[in-house]
Amino acid sequence: MDNTSSNFIKDIMISDLESGKRKSVVTRFPPEPNGYLHIGHAKSIILNFGLADDFNGKTNLRFDDTNPLKEDIEFVNSIKEDVNWLGFEWDGLFFASDYFEEMYNRAVLLIKKGLAYVDDLSADEIRQYRGTLTEPGKESPYRNRSIEENLDLFERMRKGEFGNGEKVLRAKIDMSSPNINLRDPVLYRISHATHHNTGDKWCIYPMYAFAHPIEDAIEGVTHSICTIEFEDQRPLYNWVVEQCEMENKPQQIEFGRLNVTNTVMSKRKLKQLVEEGYVDGWDDPRMPTISGMRRRGYTPEAIRAFVRETGVSKGSGAVDSQMLEHFVREDLKLKAPRTMGVLKPLKVVITNYPEGQVEWLDAENNPENPEMGMRKIPFSREIYIEQDDFMENPPKKYFRLFPGNEVRLKHAYFIKCEEFIQDENGEIVELRCTYDPETKSGTGFTGRKVKGTIHWVEATNAIPAEFRLYEPLILDEQEENEEGEDKSFLERVNPNSLEVLNGFVEPNMKDVEPQDKFQFFRHGYFNVDPKDTTADQLVFNRIVSLKSSFKL
Ligand code: ATP
Ligand code: MG
Repeated sequence: MDNTSSNFIKDIMISDLESGKRKSVVTRFPPEPNGYLHIGHAKSIILNFGLADDFNGKTNLRFDDTNPLKEDIEFVNSIKEDVNWLGFEWDGLFFASDYFEEMYNRAVLLIKKGLAYVDDLSADEIRQYRGTLTEPGKESPYRNRSIEENLDLFERMRKGEFGNGEKVLRAKIDMSSPNINLRDPVLYRISHATHHNTGDKWCIYPMYAFAHPIEDAIEGVTHSICTIEFEDQRPLYNWVVEQCEMENKPQQIEFGRLNVTNTVMSKRKLKQLVEEGYVDGWDDPRMPTISGMRRRGYTPEAIRAFVRETGVSKGSGAVDSQMLEHFVREDLKLKAPRTMGVLKPLKVVITNYPEGQVEWLDAENNPENPEMGMRKIPFSREIYIEQDDFMENPPKKYFRLFPGNEVRLKHAYFIKCEEFIQDENGEIVELRCTYDPETKSGTGFTGRKVKGTIHWVEATNAIPAEFRLYEPLILDEQEENEEGEDKSFLERVNPNSLEVLNGFVEPNMKDVEPQDKFQFFRHGYFNVDPKDTTADQLVFNRIVSLKSSFKL
């Protein structure tokens, strides 16, 4: 099988299976339930599930819920939905918090082996004592407490005898290690907080660096895939697995994060955009979240193809957001029926068309996919066209309507502009045109040619609709650094990222369902908004426009 293009992680798996180091491949996707998933997580999901699938292996969905203050069941549920929507099913569904007892016991084992101690230094002091890349750290005055004292203090930490921050449990490794992660890292902290899964059972919580290797080992994960920032933690990961005497020995493998231009990709920043009202929730169609992309109308197929194309490497340059749009267009090209919608309507009266008459014209649903069949669209004396398709004083090479000019109405007739009507402010409010019955579409008329073809909607049967058009949420292409620490991203929020228009669609659209996707002729692909569409009001989100300068 071939979910992912060939890459170095796949190569490691192949060689581990061939050498007999591993009997199977077991991976996990380990989100912290402290926000909604974004396109970066999609990469991790596709790698973990896709690679395991390639080797008929297994993948667990494991919630890394070791920080009670930030986590919530709302996020747990959204993450499950997003993983499924992307097309994956987990083998086991686990919570790191289900392993708290086991983790505690392993910590006790470390204490008994003289490899962990309870420290009374404050967080600030610990930081000061840690040293720098060029200077070794200093040992804590509490470092040489006896095993008995440490066992007693650690048990009392668990019982809740101390306040937040009063004590921590630290590994006893090497305060002068060139790898700062090995300078007696903190393993447990005190936090009197209610946990979404364990309630008030615990008031000490394991740190990620201690918890993660144990979680992986408990589940029999073989290849623990994570992002490159964790490279320096790999020695600690291995130390924990080894010294905690875990039976299974998972291998941590790092790859470069996915970054995409014109957006931000960190839950912290996305949360800020939501909480400070820059967007309308985590699933706002401008957000790089999976739920935002779903609501915008992106498809799982397009996201998977995009992630596959980005490959797997140790580097983390930003990928052009247009590449993702390219895959969305590619996926929708044959799937989405084509139709006509007028976003900024201008009324046209066809003065020589019989009053009261409506005829039903044949229209192909997708010329690139004839299997999608035909539909009938009404035509009459009154139609809407786009305001932009008329100009009183056109520049050269403007082939649409202007006084005296003739254009083709898609699927219908040639019409010629005879007159335009302005209101008291000089705004053009109506066109008077004539049509030529000889030029009916599909009759093979060859008498003369016109250069412009425009779309339209018959006025008396038209259905009103709202159209939401999007521009990038974040303006320039300045990359986030690894820690995502650029503070200026709020200044880069595009004030014009949403444009709302009110226009009309064909009467065939009366039965559309949320998430149905269409190509509106000349405007691009649109999705029926699942949240704001009601029985009385259709709302279409523009998924992507038709044109792109992007080349693969
Ligand atoms: P964020 O920085 O956005 O909060 P995170 O890494 O803290 O992301 P987790 O919930 O801990 O979020 O991530 C779950 C998994 O997704 C981890 O294995 C993480 O490495 C991976 N992941 C997160 N962001 C990206 C990204 N941009 N590219 C690839 N993988 C990612
Ligand atoms: Mg995280």
